[in-house]
Amino acid sequence: MPALVEDVLIPCPYCGSPMIVEADCTGGDQHFYEDCQTCCSPVEIRVLVGENGDLLDLVAMRENE
Ligand SMILES: [Zn+2]
Repeated sequence: MPALVEDVLIPCPYCGSPMIVEADCTGGDQHFYEDCQTCCSPVEIRVLVGENGDLLDLVAMRENE
């Protein structure tokens, strides 16, 4: 059984500081914004979830990139 919610550590695409994003794998692919705790920039997060609820990929991007 995969974890339903996974904490993923990613570098902020703006300042490079590590930030933890909660990826909820129960609802399929996700797209949301998370503010970096260090530089307060809006980081665009894309979560790709497989059919079994596995976390396939988590991508952090700058806004409008
Ligand atoms: Zn940052």
